Amino acid sequence: MLRVLALYPDLMNIYADRGNLTVFERRATWRGIGFELAGAGIGDEIDPDAHDLVYIGGGQDRDQALCARDLATVKRDALHAAAARGAVVFAVCGGLQLLGHGYEMEGERLPGVGLVDLDTRREDGPRLLGNIAISLDLPGGPARLAGFENHAGRTYLGSGTEPLGRVLRGNGNNGADGTEGVRGGPHGTVIGTYMHGPLLPKNTAFADWLVATAMGVDALPPLDDALEAAAHAEAARAAGV
Ligand code: GLN
Repeated sequence: MLRVLALYPDLMNIYADRGNLTVFERRATWRGIGFELAGAGIGDEIDPDAHDLVYIGGGQDRDQALCARDLATVKRDALHAAAARGAVVFAVCGGLQLLGHGYEMEGERLPGVGLVDLDTRREDGPRLLGNIAISLDLPGGPARLAGFENHAGRTYLGSGTEPLGRVLRGNGNNGADGTEGVRGGPHGTVIGTYMHGPLLPKNTAFADWLVATAMGVDALPPLDDALEAAAHAEAARAAGV
């Protein structure tokens, strides 16, 4: 059984990031694994033991501003407890920005939930926008993710904090240090990325790694991923790798 909780599914869902939830559902169901999806909005308490994977999609600054305080207060302790027992927390773009200490915008600082040591700020300069590819290590060996990024915030990892991967093409966390996303928390299960698209339909090895990690298993039975592999190849080609 895979139990997924989507945080702020209405507010944090830019660039079809909700499609990542469909991937979790499909890949579980195709394998005969039970699937449960719950949602939690502003003001809703969450049970840290009731979910294997907590998902936060991307959002515009104004939508993030609505969620940030709630995430850092109402949901804070439960999210830390979930990460402490090895649940996966997977966050995209605006969600990634809220995993850290905070997000410095013009004239306002949004609080983060403090699950990982990173900080985000808006700086002068262009939006970091376009196709992106990164390299990372998955249990099966070196892998590549390909997707799309569009963010004004620049994220900086604290020293000793691991990125999710290294930028091959595109900008990643800040366009300067070659890092993309984050992988941290007590069990290395707090994962953030700037990659939209949505990310998971065309990066199924990564989707399966998230699912396996959330379920506490080493690997999952293979699926016929010919279509997904073609989508991945096209996204990688678009990013120029
Ligand atoms: N609002 C954030 C930024 O522009 C994230 C946007 C997004 O999720 N695409 O930095």
